[in-house]
Amino acid sequence: MVRIIDLHTHCNCGLKDDCPETEIHKRNFDFLMEDYKSAGISVGGFSYFSALLGTSEIYESNELLYKQSKTDDRVYQWIVLDPRQDKLFSQIAEKIKGEKVLGIKIHSPCHNYDINDYGDKIFGFANELQCFVLMHPDKIPEMVKFADKYPKMNLIIAHLGSVEHVDAIKNAKHGNIYTDTSGMASFNNNIIEYAIEKVGSEKIFFGTDTYACGFQKGRIEYARISDKGKENIFYNNAKTHFSIQI
Ligand SMILES: [Zn+2]
Repeated sequence: MVRIIDLHTHCNCGLKDDCPETEIHKRNFDFLMEDYKSAGISVGGFSYFSALLGTSEIYESNELLYKQSKTDDRVYQWIVLDPRQDKLFSQIAEKIKGEKVLGIKIHSPCHNYDINDYGDKIFGFANELQCFVLMHPDKIPEMVKFADKYPKMNLIIAHLGSVEHVDAIKNAKHGNIYTDTSGMASFNNNIIEYAIEKVGSEKIFFGTDTYACGFQKGRIEYARISDKGKENIFYNNAKTHFSIQI
């Protein structure tokens, strides 16, 4: 049976900036775990919505998720950073070596800052910590200069769905840009195949971003790529770069 690591997802945690649930799109942890079960997904790399949809509850959200990750085998953590809040840098420096921590998550469009203004601060910090940064796509072509300048950090530009994603991976001279298949952009009917042809399957992680797990999994399962490529995306790449126990 294929083993699957969901490297990019979210859930609500009960704070004010949770993402509103609807009858047709649930955001609570128990529901998402049921969906994991039906799709055969073992573990997820989470950040809480409350740390992404606003900026006032990031610290608290990070603390709560850190606690949850300690008590639940299925939960790994991306610690969310808003580069304008100093206390988050100290929080991250303290927790980054935690065994369930995958790296730093940033979302410049939701947090409403210019990634070019804060790129040195964020990626320079990640370079010191030698960790991964998972970013919501923003000014993708310009991210290459940061990846080149900070070779000890690795950058995942999420939501593979454009030629720009693939070009950024290709153009990073230290090979430290990656992407993930989470989100609806992967519905493009040749995007996964195109990316693998250009940069290989080792640069691509699997993710769900809380979309239907069957939909996200099926996109890879039925992709016109080799079995090895599928295994790399579902499991091998995450196992290679992170210490995930499954
Ligand atoms: Zn996301």
